[in-house]
Amino acid sequence: MTEDSSIAARLAQIQQRISQAAVRAGRAADAVRLLPVSKTFGEAAIREAVQAGVRRFGENKAQEIRSKYEPLADCDIEWIMIGHLQTNKAKDVARMAAEIQSLDRIELAIALEKRLQQEGRQIDALVQIKTSTEPTKYGLPPGELPDFLRRVADEAPSLRIQGLMTLAINEANDEAVRACFRNLRELRDRTRDLDLPGVQLDRLSMGMSGDFEIAIEEGSTEVRIGTAIFGGRVYNDDYYWPEGVKKAP
Ligand SMILES: *Cc1c(COP(=O)(O)O)cnc(C)c1O
Repeated sequence: MTEDSSIAARLAQIQQRISQAAVRAGRAADAVRLLPVSKTFGEAAIREAVQAGVRRFGENKAQEIRSKYEPLADCDIEWIMIGHLQTNKAKDVARMAAEIQSLDRIELAIALEKRLQQEGRQIDALVQIKTSTEPTKYGLPPGELPDFLRRVADEAPSLRIQGLMTLAINEANDEAVRACFRNLRELRDRTRDLDLPGVQLDRLSMGMSGDFEIAIEEGSTEVRIGTAIFGGRVYNDDYYWPEGVKKAP
């Protein structure tokens, strides 16, 4: 079998693998949504995906959303912020993103609230949870979630909380990866039982190119896929998930 390397063909293949994984897990074929992650890829690749029917794109740097926003304004794209966001870049996300999936601390929620009020906008938000012990992963510690949600509902009402997001531990051990996804689902179930006002927790964003089938078995409602659609990236992931003050090359 030769692999068709067009973006449209890879999107179709991934969509099929997502549906099959959902059905294998006893879920509806359309239970899991695909969020293509276009970070590091330029206008041409994104236009090709738009041609194939994609409207929502994940990006993990505010400055990358900013640089793509104008040139692609004709495509009616919803930009979804999925990466670590510094409070001093909250303005770009408040202005240009349809959603943030990497909300992980109250200072960020408050910075976004101020900018969203200035823009007269509300956006959807998922809370990023730290489900592994890896020192490099961002995310709110699970035990802090209920208080965090109460504070966001009070202090940042322009963020409409819809669910949770996580990155699994980055290793080859499937059981360790599965445990991260399961932790997120169980945290969601426990927290949903608290019935906090103004908080929806239906969405679970978990699973990437290398682990999305496991995530779907554990209840993912959306998977964030970059490499398997757009191909390999030029920089390694350290650059996109920087530890401390690592500088761009
Ligand atoms: C890059 C990225 C992805 C997609 O990763 P792939 O392995 O390329 O599919 C998913 N989530 C986040 C937060 C990312 O930064």
